[in-house]
Amino acid sequence: MNNATRLQYLEAMGIDVRFTVHQAQTGVVAAVDVDEVPSIKQTVALVEASAKAWDVLEKQVSGCKNCELCHSRTQTVFGAGNNNADWMFVGEVPGQSEDLAGQPFVGQAGKLLTEMIQAIGLTRESVYIANILKCRPPNDRAPKVEEIHACSHYLQQQIALVKPKIILAVGRVAAQTLLKTNEPLSKLRGVSHQLTDIPLVVIYHPAYLLRFLPEKRQAWQDLQLANTIYQKIKTL
Ligand code: SF4
Repeated sequence: MNNATRLQYLEAMGIDVRFTVHQAQTGVVAAVDVDEVPSIKQTVALVEASAKAWDVLEKQVSGCKNCELCHSRTQTVFGAGNNNADWMFVGEVPGQSEDLAGQPFVGQAGKLLTEMIQAIGLTRESVYIANILKCRPPNDRAPKVEEIHACSHYLQQQIALVKPKIILAVGRVAAQTLLKTNEPLSKLRGVSHQLTDIPLVVIYHPAYLLRFLPEKRQAWQDLQLANTIYQKIKTL
């Protein structure tokens, strides 16, 4: 099999050739020369490496005690969805329902997020959903800066593994954390940002939309903006 064919197989399987067998042992994403196209045997190893990297990361999170939230959580909320998704939604912190279910965006806010995802022609299963923090703050207080610092490397690894084509920051905390800014949500919405080389669009948190229904129209505009950006990327 020649290199071009191998590359096509790898792409069809959602594998980035920058992924190396090294990752099978370390769970760490590393970059290699694109010309180093793997054989079929190596391709199988890459698939296994990807699965192992996810497994390693999820185990790290479930046992994490890097901040005080480990004492108050019922369980960690790792993330859910398609590990090779083009679309990645990043919220802020688990709430009570998420803490009990171990899943991001459940309850009424989760239902609305699912409807928002469906409104742009996607399914919840086709996207990847995660939060900035993996543990619920007690009484749903705002996350502390040190907690965000302690936890953010998990999300960075999830982004590196999913390799999304577009990221949607769901709500103010997610937007400010990802973009490293204190700008208010009103200034961050409605434009395309970049997270390294990935386009990022800021949208309202569905919990906010449940309280302020008139903003739903603007939420639809945000989703349309994201979809326009995504469709352009696909044609490149
Ligand atoms: S919030 Fe993040 S850093 Fe803190 S204990 Fe949970 S997983 Fe660890």
